[in-house]
Amino acid sequence: MNDNDISMKFMRDMIVTIDGPSGSGKSTTAQALSERLDLTYLDTGAMYRAVTWKVLHSGTDPDDMESVTKIAEETSLEIDIRDGVPVLLVDGAPSGDEIRGPDVSEAVSPVSRHQGVRRAMVRFQRKIGNMGGIVAEGRDTGSTVFPFAHVKIFLVADMEARTKRRVKQLRQIGIIQTEDEIRHNLARRDKIDSGREHSPLVRPVGAVVVDTSGVTIEEQVTIIEEIVRKEASRLGTLYVPRGKKNPVRRGRTIHFTIARDMIRFFEWLLFGIKIHGSENLRFAESFFFASNHISWYDPPFVGSTFERELWIVAKKELFKNRLFSWILRKVHAIPIDRQGFDRSTIKAIDKAIELGDSILMFPEGTRSMTGRLKKFKPGIGMIAYRSGKTIIPTYISGSNALKDCFMRKRRLEVRIGRAIRIPEDYKSDNRKRDYAVLSSMIYEAMKMLEDETYA
Ligand code: C5P
Repeated sequence: MNDNDISMKFMRDMIVTIDGPSGSGKSTTAQALSERLDLTYLDTGAMYRAVTWKVLHSGTDPDDMESVTKIAEETSLEIDIRDGVPVLLVDGAPSGDEIRGPDVSEAVSPVSRHQGVRRAMVRFQRKIGNMGGIVAEGRDTGSTVFPFAHVKIFLVADMEARTKRRVKQLRQIGIIQTEDEIRHNLARRDKIDSGREHSPLVRPVGAVVVDTSGVTIEEQVTIIEEIVRKEASRLGTLYVPRGKKNPVRRGRTIHFTIARDMIRFFEWLLFGIKIHGSENLRFAESFFFASNHISWYDPPFVGSTFERELWIVAKKELFKNRLFSWILRKVHAIPIDRQGFDRSTIKAIDKAIELGDSILMFPEGTRSMTGRLKKFKPGIGMIAYRSGKTIIPTYISGSNALKDCFMRKRRLEVRIGRAIRIPEDYKSDNRKRDYAVLSSMIYEAMKMLEDETYA
């Protein structure tokens, strides 16, 4: 495969997300872009609308969380390609214009606010889009549904442009509403969508903002198409095909390399460790790894799977004993104060990155006793963001039941997730918010690996 073939492969497997408020031009842009690039268009708003239609039709109160969640969970959603056009099938039948009516538009944001509804919709969306080859459009597709999307776009437009667009769109399908009514509905939905607790409308970290107020559809699609093509060719040059040697793959120092390979050998011999997703590491770059934490053995077990020179961020309490501290530092452990901000941790991470090494962090801070992913300690978003590295979510299972793994009653497994890349020229307009958003993007990506583990 030459570079061009590889870029073509990335084009075919692309996940592009387009998020933004109602009327910012998402649907038209996403549709046109998917046609130009021959990708499948995924309208996530239509799914929330379809559920809302069912809620209204059954006489259920949109604020009744339990009943609404039940309806969402019982709904089956699929995408069928008919005459080359993707059609949303709701319980097996194609959805029509009824989901665009004013009653649905009024009730859709209150319905979409419920966590159970979101979980059910996200599950469908991932099932449809996980294999790639899609342009997904909505409010949280880049931040929650596909945090590892290759290209993330955030569309914005001023209220006047959005209102005019919506009036025109609705007229085309025979729905007449005044500008005032539409403006009021857009503003109300903005407020609920951005303010809700579960996956609110936010600019995903790494998203390119495109203001569509003064440009034509043609122009904005061309801008985004350009971004997608550029990313596909960049990934093509970073990718290291099977059989080719990855320049950053092996270790930099001999003692680290030997320790890592020995651990790896014993894991294989004693537990038959299974590693999933190694192809996500086939890139000529160093990484920022984030892993779940269920056992004392996780740092060596997880750390040894990556075949990269690695620095592991570990709690400061472990470094109290001088001899142990010396050993830990030799095997590349970096102490972190889990209670407060510690400049020396940041400095040590910066130094490791300067050397071209990778970082491994356990964002939960301590082991999870239930074995399931816990809430993250603050700091991961900031540290990952500042590292400027590509983030790889990982998930270990079985290390808290090694006896069973030894007897082969359970499997010791490490899952390596897909990369969350932040473009080099990404400019944040709100650092604090970005740290929090990135932390939740990493959490979502790790949660997905957990779902795969226990599926
Ligand atoms: O995009 P559209 O205007 O059709 O979306 C309708 C509503 O569905 C939004 O106002 C929002 O409340 C909800 N939605 C969502 N998350 C998405 C897509 C849509 O909450 N990813």
